Amino acid sequence: MKTITEKIRQDAERLTDREEEALRKAGNIIRQGGLVAFPTETVYGLGGDALNRESSRRIYEAKGRPSDNPLIVHICRFEDIAEIASDVPEEAVRIAAAFWPGPLTMILHKSDRVPYETTGGLDTVAVRLPSHPVARKLIEYSGGYVAAPSANISGRPSPTAAKYVTEDMEGRIDMILDGGAVGIGLESTIVDLTVTPPQILRPGYVTQEMLSNVLGKVDTDVTILQRDSGQAPKAPGMKYRHYAPKGELTIVEGDPELVAAYMNRQAANARERGERTGIIGTREHMAQYQADVVKCLGDRADEESIARNLYSVLRQMDEEQVTRIYSESFASQGFGQAIMNRLLKAAGYRVVKV
Ligand code: AMP
Ligand code: MG
Repeated sequence: MKTITEKIRQDAERLTDREEEALRKAGNIIRQGGLVAFPTETVYGLGGDALNRESSRRIYEAKGRPSDNPLIVHICRFEDIAEIASDVPEEAVRIAAAFWPGPLTMILHKSDRVPYETTGGLDTVAVRLPSHPVARKLIEYSGGYVAAPSANISGRPSPTAAKYVTEDMEGRIDMILDGGAVGIGLESTIVDLTVTPPQILRPGYVTQEMLSNVLGKVDTDVTILQRDSGQAPKAPGMKYRHYAPKGELTIVEGDPELVAAYMNRQAANARERGERTGIIGTREHMAQYQADVVKCLGDRADEESIARNLYSVLRQMDEEQVTRIYSESFASQGFGQAIMNRLLKAAGYRVVKV
Protein backbone atom coordinates (compact mmCIF):
# COMPACT_ATOMS: atom_id res chain seq x y z
CA MET A 1 0.00 0.00 0.00
CA LYS A 2 1.27 3.48 -0.82
CA THR A 3 0.97 5.97 2.05
CA ILE A 4 0.30 9.58 1.00
CA THR A 5 1.49 12.37 3.34
CA GLU A 6 -0.13 15.82 3.33
CA LYS A 7 1.04 18.80 5.41
CA ILE A 8 -1.57 20.82 7.30
CA ARG A 9 -0.77 23.79 9.54
CA GLN A 10 -2.34 23.13 12.90
CA ASP A 11 -2.88 26.73 13.90
CA ALA A 12 -4.35 27.82 10.61
CA GLU A 13 -7.30 30.12 11.19
CA ARG A 14 -8.40 29.37 7.70
CA LEU A 15 -7.19 26.40 5.73
CA THR A 16 -5.79 26.90 2.23
CA ASP A 17 -7.74 25.27 -0.60
CA ARG A 18 -5.09 22.60 -0.78
CA GLU A 19 -5.37 21.81 2.95
CA GLU A 20 -9.14 21.78 2.78
CA GLU A 21 -8.95 19.36 -0.14
CA ALA A 22 -6.49 17.12 1.72
CA LEU A 23 -8.83 16.97 4.71
CA ARG A 24 -11.82 16.12 2.54
CA LYS A 25 -9.82 13.42 0.83
CA ALA A 26 -8.79 12.04 4.23
CA GLY A 27 -12.43 12.05 5.36
CA ASN A 28 -13.45 10.12 2.25
CA ILE A 29 -10.71 7.56 2.82
CA ILE A 30 -12.10 6.90 6.32
CA ARG A 31 -15.71 6.79 5.05
CA GLN A 32 -14.64 4.13 2.58
CA GLY A 33 -13.03 1.97 5.25
CA GLY A 34 -9.43 3.20 4.93
CA LEU A 35 -7.00 4.47 7.59
CA VAL A 36 -5.61 8.00 8.10
CA ALA A 37 -3.12 9.11 10.78
CA PHE A 38 -3.76 12.63 12.08
CA PRO A 39 -2.52 15.05 14.76
CA THR A 40 -4.45 15.55 18.02
CA GLU A 41 -3.45 17.68 21.01
CA THR A 42 -2.20 14.53 22.83
CA VAL A 43 -0.39 12.31 20.28
CA TYR A 44 -0.94 11.31 16.62
CA GLY A 45 -3.95 9.04 16.17
CA LEU A 46 -4.58 6.29 13.61
CA GLY A 47 -8.14 6.88 12.47
CA GLY A 48 -10.72 4.57 10.94
CA ASP A 49 -14.55 4.55 10.88
CA ALA A 50 -15.54 3.55 14.43
CA LEU A 51 -18.89 2.18 13.29
CA ASN A 52 -17.36 -0.09 10.64
CA ARG A 53 -16.06 -3.38 12.07
CA GLU A 54 -13.80 -3.90 9.07
CA SER A 55 -12.06 -0.54 9.71
CA SER A 56 -11.41 -1.48 13.32
CA ARG A 57 -9.93 -4.81 12.22
CA ARG A 58 -7.62 -2.90 9.89
CA ILE A 59 -6.48 -0.63 12.73
CA TYR A 60 -5.49 -3.63 14.85
CA GLU A 61 -3.69 -5.17 11.89
CA ALA A 62 -1.77 -1.99 10.99
CA LYS A 63 -0.61 -1.52 14.59
CA GLY A 64 0.00 -5.19 15.33
CA ARG A 65 -2.27 -4.54 18.33
CA PRO A 66 -3.94 -7.35 20.33
CA SER A 67 -7.66 -7.31 19.42
CA ASP A 68 -8.80 -7.29 23.08
CA ASN A 69 -7.32 -3.79 23.49
CA PRO A 70 -10.26 -1.43 22.79
CA LEU A 71 -10.14 1.75 20.69
CA ILE A 72 -11.19 5.27 21.67
CA VAL A 73 -14.01 6.73 19.57
CA HIS A 74 -13.39 10.38 18.65
CA ILE A 75 -16.31 12.72 18.01
CA CYS A 76 -16.46 16.39 16.97
CA ARG A 77 -19.72 17.56 18.66
CA PHE A 78 -20.88 16.75 22.18
CA GLU A 79 -24.38 15.72 21.09
CA ASP A 80 -22.96 12.87 18.99
CA ILE A 81 -22.13 11.04 22.21
CA ALA A 82 -25.77 9.90 22.38
CA GLU A 83 -25.29 7.82 19.21
CA ILE A 84 -22.54 5.67 20.65
CA ALA A 85 -23.41 5.57 24.36
CA SER A 86 -26.62 3.85 25.51
CA ASP A 87 -27.02 6.41 28.29
CA VAL A 88 -25.27 9.69 29.01
CA PRO A 89 -25.04 10.22 32.77
CA GLU A 90 -25.07 13.66 34.32
CA GLU A 91 -21.36 13.26 35.24
CA ALA A 92 -20.54 12.96 31.53
CA VAL A 93 -22.30 16.25 30.80
CA ARG A 94 -20.45 17.96 33.65
CA ILE A 95 -16.94 16.81 32.75
CA ALA A 96 -17.59 17.46 29.07
CA ALA A 97 -18.53 21.04 29.93
CA ALA A 98 -15.33 21.40 31.96
CA PHE A 99 -12.75 19.56 29.81
CA TRP A 100 -14.07 19.07 26.26
CA PRO A 101 -12.84 19.67 23.70
CA GLY A 102 -9.64 18.34 25.22
CA PRO A 103 -7.43 15.48 26.45
CA LEU A 104 -10.07 13.53 28.39
CA THR A 105 -11.66 10.18 27.46
CA MET A 106 -14.74 8.85 29.21
CA ILE A 107 -15.93 5.25 29.43
CA LEU A 108 -19.71 4.79 29.06
CA HIS A 109 -22.06 1.89 28.23
CA LYS A 110 -22.01 1.38 24.48
CA SER A 111 -24.97 1.62 22.11
CA ASP A 112 -25.76 -1.05 19.52
CA ARG A 113 -24.26 1.13 16.78
CA VAL A 114 -20.72 0.50 18.03
CA PRO A 115 -19.37 -2.87 16.87
CA TYR A 116 -17.56 -5.12 19.35
CA GLU A 117 -14.52 -4.96 17.06
CA THR A 118 -14.15 -1.31 18.12
CA THR A 119 -14.57 -1.95 21.86
CA GLY A 120 -12.37 -5.06 21.99
CA GLY A 121 -15.42 -7.16 22.89
CA LEU A 122 -16.54 -4.91 25.80
CA ASP A 123 -20.05 -3.57 26.44
CA THR A 124 -18.53 -0.19 27.24
CA VAL A 125 -17.14 2.42 24.86
CA ALA A 126 -14.39 5.02 25.26
CA VAL A 127 -15.29 8.50 23.88
CA ARG A 128 -13.25 11.66 23.39
CA LEU A 129 -13.82 15.05 21.79
CA PRO A 130 -10.36 16.39 20.89
CA SER A 131 -9.52 20.09 20.67
CA HIS A 132 -7.06 19.96 17.77
CA PRO A 133 -8.66 21.79 14.83
CA VAL A 134 -7.29 19.35 12.23
CA ALA A 135 -8.61 16.38 14.23
CA ARG A 136 -12.05 17.94 14.60
CA LYS A 137 -12.41 18.78 10.95
CA LEU A 138 -11.23 15.33 9.92
CA ILE A 139 -13.78 13.69 12.25
CA GLU A 140 -16.52 15.84 10.75
CA TYR A 141 -15.52 14.94 7.18
CA SER A 142 -15.25 11.25 8.12
CA GLY A 143 -18.87 10.99 9.22
CA GLY A 144 -18.49 11.88 12.90
CA TYR A 145 -17.13 8.74 14.61
CA VAL A 146 -13.44 8.00 14.28
CA ALA A 147 -11.78 5.15 16.19
CA ALA A 148 -8.23 6.29 16.79
CA PRO A 149 -5.57 4.64 18.92
CA SER A 150 -2.11 6.14 18.91
CA ALA A 151 -0.51 5.84 15.44
CA ASN A 152 2.47 3.69 16.49
CA ILE A 153 3.31 0.01 16.12
CA SER A 154 1.93 -1.65 19.24
CA GLY A 155 4.40 -1.45 22.14
CA ARG A 156 6.44 1.47 20.76
CA PRO A 157 6.33 5.04 22.10
CA SER A 158 3.32 6.98 20.79
CA PRO A 159 4.16 9.36 17.91
CA THR A 160 4.42 13.03 18.82
CA ALA A 161 5.39 14.15 15.29
CA ALA A 162 4.45 12.94 11.80
CA LYS A 163 7.96 11.60 11.10
CA TYR A 164 7.46 9.00 13.84
CA VAL A 165 4.14 7.97 12.28
CA THR A 166 5.94 7.51 8.97
CA GLU A 167 8.63 5.46 10.73
CA ASP A 168 6.01 3.00 12.04
CA MET A 169 3.15 3.16 9.53
CA GLU A 170 4.62 3.78 6.04
CA GLY A 171 3.08 1.25 3.67
CA ARG A 172 0.51 0.09 6.23
CA ILE A 173 -2.05 2.93 6.04
CA ASP A 174 -3.57 5.13 3.34
CA MET A 175 -2.65 8.61 4.48
CA ILE A 176 -0.77 10.71 7.05
CA LEU A 177 -1.83 14.28 7.86
CA ASP A 178 1.31 16.07 9.02
CA GLY A 179 0.27 18.85 11.41
CA GLY A 180 3.67 19.30 13.03
CA ALA A 181 4.57 18.51 16.63
CA VAL A 182 1.74 17.83 19.10
CA GLY A 183 1.13 20.05 22.15
CA ILE A 184 0.76 17.70 25.12
CA GLY A 185 2.72 14.62 24.12
CA LEU A 186 1.03 12.04 26.37
CA GLU A 187 -2.24 10.18 25.71
CA SER A 188 -5.57 11.39 27.14
CA THR A 189 -6.73 10.83 30.70
CA ILE A 190 -9.26 7.95 30.77
CA VAL A 191 -12.05 8.08 33.37
CA ASP A 192 -14.61 5.29 33.77
CA LEU A 193 -18.10 6.68 34.42
CA THR A 194 -19.78 3.24 34.52
CA VAL A 195 -18.62 2.76 38.13
CA THR A 196 -19.29 4.74 41.34
CA PRO A 197 -17.27 6.70 42.23
CA PRO A 198 -15.79 7.38 38.78
CA GLN A 199 -12.36 5.82 38.36
CA ILE A 200 -9.27 7.05 36.50
CA LEU A 201 -7.93 4.18 34.38
CA ARG A 202 -5.09 6.09 32.75
CA PRO A 203 -3.59 9.35 34.08
CA GLY A 204 -3.07 12.25 31.69
CA TYR A 205 -3.10 16.02 31.41
CA VAL A 206 -6.50 16.22 33.16
CA THR A 207 -5.52 15.19 36.69
CA GLN A 208 -7.45 13.49 39.48
CA GLU A 209 -7.64 16.82 41.29
CA MET A 210 -9.14 18.57 38.26
CA LEU A 211 -11.75 15.81 37.89
CA SER A 212 -12.55 15.80 41.61
CA ASN A 213 -13.24 19.54 41.49
CA VAL A 214 -16.10 18.78 39.11
CA LEU A 215 -17.24 15.29 40.15
CA GLY A 216 -16.45 15.04 43.86
CA LYS A 217 -14.82 11.73 44.82
CA VAL A 218 -12.80 10.13 42.03
CA ASP A 219 -10.75 6.94 42.44
CA THR A 220 -7.60 5.91 40.61
CA ASP A 221 -6.98 2.37 39.34
CA VAL A 222 -4.32 0.94 41.67
CA THR A 223 -2.39 -0.55 38.75
CA ILE A 224 -1.37 2.89 37.45
CA LEU A 225 1.89 3.18 39.37
CA GLN A 226 2.62 -0.37 40.50
CA ARG A 227 3.05 -3.62 38.68
CA ASP A 228 2.46 -6.11 41.45
CA SER A 229 -0.89 -4.89 42.71
CA GLY A 230 -2.32 -8.40 42.18
CA GLN A 231 -5.08 -6.84 40.06
CA ALA A 232 -5.59 -6.64 36.32
CA PRO A 233 -5.76 -3.06 35.03
CA LYS A 234 -9.31 -1.96 34.15
CA ALA A 235 -8.21 -0.37 30.88
CA PRO A 236 -7.23 -3.49 28.94
CA GLY A 237 -4.49 -1.65 27.05
CA MET A 238 -2.66 -0.80 30.25
CA LYS A 239 -1.62 -4.42 30.80
CA TYR A 240 0.64 -4.50 27.78
CA ARG A 241 4.29 -3.42 27.78
CA HIS A 242 3.99 -0.05 26.22
CA TYR A 243 5.80 3.06 25.13
CA ALA A 244 9.04 1.11 25.22
CA PRO A 245 12.35 1.96 23.57
CA LYS A 246 14.39 -0.96 22.19
CA GLY A 247 17.16 -0.53 24.76
CA GLU A 248 16.74 -1.66 28.37
CA LEU A 249 15.48 1.29 30.42
CA THR A 250 15.95 1.67 34.20
CA ILE A 251 14.50 4.53 36.29
CA VAL A 252 16.79 5.76 39.07
CA GLU A 253 15.26 7.43 42.14
CA GLY A 254 16.91 9.33 44.98
CA ASP A 255 19.03 12.33 45.82
CA PRO A 256 20.11 13.96 42.51
CA GLU A 257 23.85 13.69 43.31
CA LEU A 258 23.57 9.99 44.12
CA VAL A 259 21.35 9.39 41.10
CA ALA A 260 23.94 10.99 38.79
CA ALA A 261 26.81 9.06 40.38
CA TYR A 262 24.90 5.77 40.05
CA MET A 263 23.89 6.37 36.44
CA ASN A 264 27.40 7.41 35.38
CA ARG A 265 28.94 4.37 37.06
CA GLN A 266 26.42 1.93 35.56
CA ALA A 267 26.83 3.53 32.14
CA ALA A 268 30.63 3.26 32.36
CA ASN A 269 30.38 -0.43 33.34
CA ALA A 270 27.93 -1.17 30.55
CA ARG A 271 30.15 0.59 28.03
CA GLU A 272 33.05 -1.61 29.09
CA ARG A 273 30.89 -4.63 28.30
CA GLY A 274 30.48 -3.25 24.77
CA GLU A 275 27.04 -1.66 25.24
CA ARG A 276 25.96 1.71 23.94
CA THR A 277 24.67 3.75 26.85
CA GLY A 278 22.14 6.55 27.33
CA ILE A 279 21.00 8.84 30.11
CA ILE A 280 17.68 10.72 30.17
CA GLY A 281 17.55 13.69 32.52
CA THR A 282 16.26 17.20 33.08
CA ARG A 283 17.91 20.55 32.39
CA GLU A 284 18.65 21.09 36.09
CA HIS A 285 20.95 18.02 36.22
CA MET A 286 22.27 17.71 32.64
CA ALA A 287 25.81 18.87 33.41
CA GLN A 288 26.41 15.92 35.73
CA TYR A 289 25.77 13.08 33.29
CA GLN A 290 28.27 11.00 31.30
CA ALA A 291 27.16 8.40 28.75
CA ASP A 292 27.37 7.80 24.99
CA VAL A 293 24.07 9.63 24.51
CA VAL A 294 22.68 12.13 27.02
CA LYS A 295 19.18 13.55 26.33
CA CYS A 296 17.32 16.34 28.06
CA LEU A 297 13.55 15.99 28.58
CA GLY A 298 13.00 19.60 29.61
CA ASP A 299 12.82 21.52 32.86
CA ARG A 300 11.98 19.61 36.02
CA ALA A 301 10.08 22.73 37.07
CA ASP A 302 7.98 22.57 33.89
CA GLU A 303 6.25 19.18 33.69
CA GLU A 304 4.59 20.10 30.41
CA SER A 305 7.98 20.35 28.71
CA ILE A 306 8.88 16.87 30.01
CA ALA A 307 5.61 15.32 28.79
CA ARG A 308 6.04 16.93 25.37
CA ASN A 309 9.53 15.49 24.88
CA LEU A 310 9.31 12.08 26.57
CA TYR A 311 8.30 9.91 23.61
CA SER A 312 10.60 11.61 21.11
CA VAL A 313 13.55 11.18 23.50
CA LEU A 314 12.71 7.47 23.86
CA ARG A 315 12.63 7.17 20.08
CA GLN A 316 15.91 9.09 19.74
CA MET A 317 17.53 6.50 21.99
CA ASP A 318 16.47 3.90 19.40
CA GLU A 319 17.77 6.04 16.54
CA GLU A 320 21.12 6.24 18.36
CA GLN A 321 21.04 2.46 18.87
CA VAL A 322 21.42 2.75 22.61
CA THR A 323 21.14 -0.63 24.35
CA ARG A 324 21.16 0.48 28.02
CA ILE A 325 19.32 3.57 29.25
CA TYR A 326 18.97 5.25 32.66
CA SER A 327 16.36 7.91 33.43
CA GLU A 328 15.57 10.28 36.26
CA SER A 329 12.22 9.66 37.99
CA PHE A 330 9.25 12.03 38.37
CA ALA A 331 6.54 13.03 40.86
CA SER A 332 3.69 10.60 41.37
CA GLN A 333 0.99 13.27 41.78
CA GLY A 334 -0.63 15.75 39.43
CA PHE A 335 0.49 15.71 35.81
CA GLY A 336 3.74 14.07 37.01
CA GLN A 337 1.72 10.91 37.63
CA ALA A 338 0.98 10.60 33.90
CA ILE A 339 4.68 11.08 33.07
CA MET A 340 5.76 8.51 35.67
CA ASN A 341 3.07 6.03 34.57
CA ARG A 342 4.36 6.06 30.96
CA LEU A 343 8.00 5.98 32.04
CA LEU A 344 7.37 2.99 34.35
CA LYS A 345 5.74 1.08 31.51
CA ALA A 346 8.55 1.98 29.14
CA ALA A 347 10.97 0.64 31.78
CA GLY A 348 8.96 -2.53 32.38
CA TYR A 349 8.75 -1.21 36.01
CA ARG A 350 12.54 -1.46 36.48
CA VAL A 351 13.27 1.08 39.24
CA VAL A 352 16.44 1.41 41.33
CA LYS A 353 16.44 3.46 44.53
CA VAL A 354 19.82 4.90 45.48
P1 AMP B 1 -4.66 4.25 22.78
O1 AMP B 1 -5.79 4.87 22.01
O2 AMP B 1 -3.70 3.46 21.98
O3 AMP B 1 -4.00 5.29 23.63
O4 AMP B 1 -5.35 3.20 23.75
C1 AMP B 1 -6.67 3.34 24.18
C2 AMP B 1 -6.77 3.00 25.63
O5 AMP B 1 -8.14 3.13 26.03
C3 AMP B 1 -6.37 1.57 25.94
O6 AMP B 1 -5.52 1.55 27.06
C4 AMP B 1 -7.67 0.90 26.23
O7 AMP B 1 -7.53 -0.15 27.09
C5 AMP B 1 -8.53 2.03 26.81
N1 AMP B 1 -9.95 1.77 26.59
C6 AMP B 1 -10.62 1.91 25.44
N2 AMP B 1 -11.91 1.52 25.59
C7 AMP B 1 -12.06 1.12 26.86
C8 AMP B 1 -13.15 0.59 27.62
N3 AMP B 1 -14.35 0.40 27.07
N4 AMP B 1 -12.93 0.30 28.92
C9 AMP B 1 -11.71 0.50 29.48
N5 AMP B 1 -10.64 0.99 28.80
C10 AMP B 1 -10.80 1.29 27.51
MG1 MG C 1 -1.38 3.65 22.33
